[in-house]
Amino acid sequence: MGMNDTPAGDRLHIGLFGCRNAGKSSLINALTGQDLALVSPTPGTTTDPVSKAMEILPIGPVMLTDTAGLDDAGELGELRVQKSLRVLNRTDLALLVSDGTMPPGPADRQLQAELERRQIPFLIVRTKQDLPAFRRGEIPGAIEVSVNDPAAIHRLRERIAAMPVSGAAPEPFICDRLVPEQAALLVIPVDESAPKGRLILPQQQVIRELLEADIPAIAVRDSCLEKTLAAMGDRIQIVITDSQIFGRVAAVTPPEMLLTSFSILMARRKGFLEQAVRGAKALDTIVSGDRILISEGCTHHRQCGDIGTVKLPAWIREYTGQEPVFTFTAGNGFPEDLSPFKMVIHCGGCMLNEPEIRFRRRCAAERQIPFTNYGIVIAGIKGILDRALSPFPGLL
Ligand code: SF4
Repeated sequence: MGMNDTPAGDRLHIGLFGCRNAGKSSLINALTGQDLALVSPTPGTTTDPVSKAMEILPIGPVMLTDTAGLDDAGELGELRVQKSLRVLNRTDLALLVSDGTMPPGPADRQLQAELERRQIPFLIVRTKQDLPAFRRGEIPGAIEVSVNDPAAIHRLRERIAAMPVSGAAPEPFICDRLVPEQAALLVIPVDESAPKGRLILPQQQVIRELLEADIPAIAVRDSCLEKTLAAMGDRIQIVITDSQIFGRVAAVTPPEMLLTSFSILMARRKGFLEQAVRGAKALDTIVSGDRILISEGCTHHRQCGDIGTVKLPAWIREYTGQEPVFTFTAGNGFPEDLSPFKMVIHCGGCMLNEPEIRFRRRCAAERQIPFTNYGIVIAGIKGILDRALSPFPGLL
C-alpha cells in the first residue's frame, strides 16, 4: 500500500455474489471501467474470491470483491461457495447479481435470506438487459443493467453511492481526550523489525488525527525519548508508544503523564477496547497445553514485524510460567470455530474493516472466548495496564 492510499480498513467493501452465469466479473469491469483480468474466457471460473482496491466515482474509495458462483457444484465447488460466503463477513454492501434472462434460482433466494438475516445492505442487479430474452420487471426493485450500456452502469454506480451502509462513524483514536495546547509525544522504534523507509498504518493514522485536531505531534525514536522529555516535558500531555517497548517507555515517562500505545488506540478505534481489557484477564488462567490464537490482519509483508509470532509468545510463556500451544493466523484466514481456543489475541486490525472485526469479535463472544489485543496483553504482562489505560479511566 502506498502512503497516500486509503487503507483497506477504511474503504467501503462491496461484494458481488450470484450464480456462475450471472456475469459478476463483467459487471465489475463495467463498474470500474478497468479490465481487472478477473474474467476468465470460460464462464463460471472465478475460483477464490478476488479483491481489488479502487476509486469509483461518485462512490469514493472501495474494495470490490468478486466471488465464485453460488451454484457451484461438486466437492471443490462447495468449497468455493463456502469461501464466497465468508466474504460476507467483511462486506459493507452486497450486490446480488443474477442473469436477467432467467428467473431467480434457489441460490439467489438463499443468499437474499442470508443477507437479510445478517442485516447487510444489498442491491439486486439483473444483468443482460440488452438480450431479447431479458425478463423485464421480474424482481420488483431490482436494478436492470447491461454491461454494454454505460448509462445503466452509471445509474448503478449512483444507486450504490446512495445506499445507507452499516457501520457507525469510527471511534476517535485519542483526540477527544486531549487538549490542543499541549503536544503528543510518539515513540516509534526504527529497528530492523520496522518496515524500511516508512511508518506503519496505526502510526500514520494517529498522526493524521492529531494534525486534524491541531494537536502538535512530536515523533521520536526510543533512544531520544529521555532527552525530549527532559527538554519539553511540561509541554507534553501524552506519550503514545509502540507496544513492544512499553516497559522501557513507562519507566522513563513521568507518572502523572498520560501514557498509552498505538495498539490500544487501534482497539479503541475499532470499537473493542472494553472487550479487549476484559479478555486480557484470561491470561491469568492459562495453563500448559491451553491453545491461544494469535491473529493478525496482514498477510505477507507483515507490517507489525515479528511481534505476534515471536515476541508475544515468549512474553506469555515467561509471564504465565506455562507452555500454552499457539496458533497463528494472518490476513483473512480467521477460524470461524474458536471452540478449541482458551483466548484470542488480535493485532490492532488496522487493515481490517468494521464488518470483519465485528464478525471476529462475534465468533469469540458467541462461544464466550476471551478476545483481546496485543497492546493490552503486553501492558498487562509488563504490569502497567492501569497506566496504559490512563487516558480512558473506568475501563479496568
Ligand atoms: S498486523 Fe494488524 S495492526 Fe499490524 S499493520 Fe497489520 S492489520 Fe495493522
